Amino acid sequence: MEDYNLSKFTVISDPQSLNDKISAIRNAGLSKLQVIADFDATLTRYRINGQRGQSSHGLLQQGNPEYDAKRRALYEYYHPLEFSPTIPLEEKTKLMEEWWGKTHGLLIEGGLTYDAINNSVANSNIAFRDGVVELFEFLEEKDVPVLIFSAGLADIIEEVLRQKIHRSFKNIKIVSNRMVFDDCGRLVSFKGKLIHSLNKNEHALDMAAPLHDQLGNIDGPVSDNASVKQRTNVLLLGDHIGDLGMSDGLNYENRISVGFLNDNIEKNLENYCNAFDIVYLNDTPMWGVVKLATQLCSMEVD
Ligand SMILES: [Mg+2]
Repeated sequence: MEDYNLSKFTVISDPQSLNDKISAIRNAGLSKLQVIADFDATLTRYRINGQRGQSSHGLLQQGNPEYDAKRRALYEYYHPLEFSPTIPLEEKTKLMEEWWGKTHGLLIEGGLTYDAINNSVANSNIAFRDGVVELFEFLEEKDVPVLIFSAGLADIIEEVLRQKIHRSFKNIKIVSNRMVFDDCGRLVSFKGKLIHSLNKNEHALDMAAPLHDQLGNIDGPVSDNASVKQRTNVLLLGDHIGDLGMSDGLNYENRISVGFLNDNIEKNLENYCNAFDIVYLNDTPMWGVVKLATQLCSMEVD
């Protein structure tokens, strides 16, 4: 941790404003603070051994090559549309709904099982950034809730947490697309409203569900959503500018936003610096955020 020169990869465009936010959050105390984090390429690494790491959607092999190929074909069709500069947002949102809806349909039709999820995660090229476990542990100790908000698949994110971290955290909640399995561990439906890449901002807190240790034991929204809404100071972590919308469901007082700019740095740096309080370049570890969290959670001594 110490020998890594993080400052070389850290850009803070307005240090004064950041310091003011840090002070305001510290003064308000721990009971006001929560962390909202994107999953793919934010908590997880963008590259692993020089290769692009997989996403929670991308790693899934449903054990049926025909259906894996059909989902792949959808990706190839819709992914360029997602980033097209010419399609208006409203139309794009419809396209994303279509894509996610069809993909979920194929997962059901192709007979996805919980075992296939297990195996997919075991065989996947996915890894948390260094420091993520330490961040989670620190926040758990301080009773600061962490909301992982993703347009991916909740059940896969949970399995990644189980297999890569080997423990669960009582302060972590996942807001993502959640599957419903029958008694044989076969996917039968999805719960609640679809979350795709362009509506990640609408209904964040209402869909929060606790991390579960056994399959299929989650029902309905958690009861402490209200208390999460009382936590009006936010540390937000994302890797896309759109991730800033994750705190839209919240009437926040102070927000420190951290952006991981993993790729196309030159083209995007200015936009990221305008959008985020802190920008980390080059797929850095999470140590800077650990340090920031420590600062936010320490008592004001004066
Ligand atoms: Mg992401």
